[in-house]
Amino acid sequence: MYDKDNVFYKILQGEIPSKKIYEDDNVLAFYDINPMYKVHALVISKKLCVDFDDFVLNATPTETSNFFQAVSKVAELLNIKQSGYRVLSNIGKNANQIVKHFHVHILGGEQLRD
Ligand code: AMP
Repeated sequence: MYDKDNVFYKILQGEIPSKKIYEDDNVLAFYDINPMYKVHALVISKKLCVDFDDFVLNATPTETSNFFQAVSKVAELLNIKQSGYRVLSNIGKNANQIVKHFHVHILGGEQLRD
């Protein structure tokens, strides 16, 4: 089901460059190439999962916890914890998920639209 022919897999392999914010054993975080807000980062799992549901079903509790703790750490590194921010994940067709590798967006740095 997971298809390695996607841009985030290539970023993980170092085949495509990214503007890295943070990396550990579980995640890689980098800036979105087409930012929607002043701060727009992506946190992608190193576990090869298609989307949030695939990750939740197949990641161990430790992997799941590590992933979301890393998301929080990236928000801290981006200095948006005080002002507030949004974490979101697009899943499937109706959400217009483009890249079929599990990731979350971190949005902030200004007032977000509803
Ligand atoms: P989605 O799959 O709908 O959650 O959106 C994928 C996101 O990845 C979009 O916001 C794109 O701007 C972003 N994106 C696509 N290619 C790259 C890349 N090479 N580097 C950074 N961000 C990217």
